[in-house]
Amino acid sequence: MFRIGIDDTDSPAGMCTTYLAAVLSRRLKRAGIRVVEARLVRLNPNVPEKTRGNAAICLVAEGSLRVAFHLACETVGELAEMSHEGTHPGVVACERIPPPDFYLRAVRGFCTLDEARALLSEWGALSRGYKSGRGLIGATAAVCSQFDDSTCELLAYRRRARFGTPRSVDRESLFAADSLTFPHTWDTVDRENDIVVCVPHTPDPVLFGIRGERPGWLALAREKVISEDPACEQIFVTNQGTDAHIVPGTIGCLEEGHSYIVGGTVLSLPRTARGGHVCLTLGNGTGTLPCMAYEPTRGFRDIVRSLRPGDRVRAAGSYKRGSLNLEKIEVVSAPPLRLVQPPICERCGKRMTSAGRGKGYKCRRCGGRKDAPEEVIQPRTVSPGWYEVPPSARRHLARPLCRGVREDFLRLPPP
Ligand code: ZN
Repeated sequence: MFRIGIDDTDSPAGMCTTYLAAVLSRRLKRAGIRVVEARLVRLNPNVPEKTRGNAAICLVAEGSLRVAFHLACETVGELAEMSHEGTHPGVVACERIPPPDFYLRAVRGFCTLDEARALLSEWGALSRGYKSGRGLIGATAAVCSQFDDSTCELLAYRRRARFGTPRSVDRESLFAADSLTFPHTWDTVDRENDIVVCVPHTPDPVLFGIRGERPGWLALAREKVISEDPACEQIFVTNQGTDAHIVPGTIGCLEEGHSYIVGGTVLSLPRTARGGHVCLTLGNGTGTLPCMAYEPTRGFRDIVRSLRPGDRVRAAGSYKRGSLNLEKIEVVSAPPLRLVQPPICERCGKRMTSAGRGKGYKCRRCGGRKDAPEEVIQPRTVSPGWYEVPPSARRHLARPLCRGVREDFLRLPPP
């Protein structure tokens, strides 16, 4: 048994590393090499050089490692977007699998090319970097990947003649596939916003992708989909939908480009900025943290807007340029609001006005006085619980709430 890792073969103008893996997987089979598993390994979404989703792939296979490595390099040489200035492919093949530390750092933080090269030489891996060789980082992370939690994605790829042309996928059939299999599949459509999510708009070879818990559910959803004839389909085991990028963090001690779950108290009224972005400031005694719900998160912003100073929450997302970009939020407590206002004059039925600081209230009409204000208990529109951005705004790694919340999040200390 051995593993092949590939990364950084695509460009914004085309290709997709998962497609290259699907093609390679077929070539390996024809060469008598058994492909046991195809893994789609999402890495830190905050890496600035990523193309789209920062995805690397890993094929787990049985047979000749040298033949497989040769075929992998040949396929990369043929299909990778080599002429694009930002594309720097990497191919790794190894029988001895390094521990998952490198993968974990690549999904939660940053790794360097030197670190990847050192690890590959230490573990006697075959490797080839093209151009700057930067893709070796993702390829190394892919072969080291170990998933504590995983999901699956079925990807259907287009015929080459159709690359770059509009995709023909029947919209209603996708809603039908979702109705039949949700919550065991997710992110096929965004029902709340009436949007198809699983068909990309980029010029890459992907026709559509169905994400779900297990291959059986994907197959059930797949049967419903009506579309142009795909060239091939591949099921990947993946860390998508697992929150693998998120670690517990503390406000005031967050590192740029990492993703966290933090607890805190809402410090001020949420503000809606130009462009529809909503900003919420959390504090915890040691610091403050602006949290952003951007315009594409649509209805999720209403949840953020409904929070009030004093509410306690847990917020999860990526820390970039001094603020946390919200992916999900847990409202831990949002007690009814106690509002104080001048009382009503019992004689006139009119609201009194303040008679001055510490002097109680006075009726302007009859001159009647009262010391105590009127207290109003205002119920809240938001209830305690978890809330997430809609499927159309979800990051690949973000765990949808239909899968439940990561178990260790439930054991975090109260915010
Ligand atoms: Zn009065």
